[in-house]
Amino acid sequence: MNKIWNPQIECMDRSEIIKLQNERLRNVVKYEYERVPLYRERMDKKGVKPEDIRTIDDLKYLPFTEKTDLRDTFPYGLFAADKKDIVRIQGSSGTTGKPIVSGYTQNDVDVWTEMMARTLTAGNADQDSIVQVCYGYGLFTGGLGAHQGASKIGAMTIPMSSGNTARQLIMMEEMGTTHLCCTPSYALYLGESIREQGIDRSKLKLKCGFFGAEPWTEEMRKQIEELLGVDALDIYGLTEIAGPGVSFECLEKAGMHVNEDHVIPEIIDPATEMPLPYGEKGELVFTTITKTGMPMLRYRTHDICRLHDEKCACGRTLVRMERLMGRTDDMLIIRGVNVFPSQIESVLVGVRGVAPHYMLVVDRQKATDSLEVQVEVTDDMFSDSIGGLDSIKKEIGEKIKSVVGIKAQITLVAPHTIPRSEGKAKRIIDKRKL
Ligand code: ADP
Ligand code: ZN
Repeated sequence: MNKIWNPQIECMDRSEIIKLQNERLRNVVKYEYERVPLYRERMDKKGVKPEDIRTIDDLKYLPFTEKTDLRDTFPYGLFAADKKDIVRIQGSSGTTGKPIVSGYTQNDVDVWTEMMARTLTAGNADQDSIVQVCYGYGLFTGGLGAHQGASKIGAMTIPMSSGNTARQLIMMEEMGTTHLCCTPSYALYLGESIREQGIDRSKLKLKCGFFGAEPWTEEMRKQIEELLGVDALDIYGLTEIAGPGVSFECLEKAGMHVNEDHVIPEIIDPATEMPLPYGEKGELVFTTITKTGMPMLRYRTHDICRLHDEKCACGRTLVRMERLMGRTDDMLIIRGVNVFPSQIESVLVGVRGVAPHYMLVVDRQKATDSLEVQVEVTDDMFSDSIGGLDSIKKEIGEKIKSVVGIKAQITLVAPHTIPRSEGKAKRIIDKRKL
């Protein structure tokens, strides 16, 4: 049994999908040009007029958008709709502590909800299902996105949000949760907790889980499936484009179907910025074609993957994205939070008594990510009392928590002990097996 939420779209002939994309692309380009100064200025500078963009083959003439554009125009600069028509704000961590936000009109919330309804249906969830959402609720898109989709398909939705594992497990067992939405690392943690606590797996009703928001592997899929007794499906999304559900795996587990009637994916060579054909590895770029609050033209995700356009065994014709293969920048995802080394650096330069030489050590124990920040103290500080060092550690820890949003272990090291490099500094040791 293989359910499809919207077969008319999800199994549409490719030529029909492309026709739909062409038409929607023309509209959104015109809309953005008229309403958002940043797009108008960039297109004028490139000498591109909205009329020049006729089909998806013309995408290559459009300028790119980047995360820095969202930061530089924070908070309202890229909004295309009137503020009175915006009904929702979602956000994620930016690069310097300023959040990155996206504004959604009711139409955009509906589009996103439709994408999540398709996602959940692809894991055979329906109105008889009990969906436990343990993605965080709040600015982060995970919780509300999954919640909206689950409500749309008429499932019994349990808005647990993240954390409190003991309570998650009680609810899972007693309520008879059939579908689970959380990060893959939390799914592993839940699975290990079930084993450690000796919970009788045969009492659980779990069938399928939708895991995303951070990189994971085929090995992790196997482990999660074994520990939880579920089909573990990969889901992908980002705040700038919509949230989770931009693409989703079906039970074939052969790549994530992109909701192409709402977003157009491209793969580009990150160095030359030229589009690459299906099957080639490069940077993923998205153009939203139905959003009205803050549509995005050619948004560079910095995620690396491949696209495939062969029809899937499930019957869907939507293009598939392979599991992500890394990033073109140095963004780390630690416990679901986007962390840039530059954020940590900005904290360290403001602290007296430490030198700007640091190393970030990321590890994963018991399925939980940890971040250790090793930083050199200055010569002066090194000879100071322990008390002084302790207060520095505390200060750095608190500042990182407030800027980046996660708790880090701070290790002060002696002057000149962090290896210096002549080329690009190596500041990250990621011990997680991803
Ligand atoms: P989200 O709410 O989906 O985490 P963010 O905007 O905070 O959105 O982060 C988006 C980034 O998270 C993506 O660009 C990608 O790097 C990462 N990400 C999301 N889903 C996945 C996934 N399934 N696999 C790997 N990385 C993912
Ligand atoms: Zn499929």
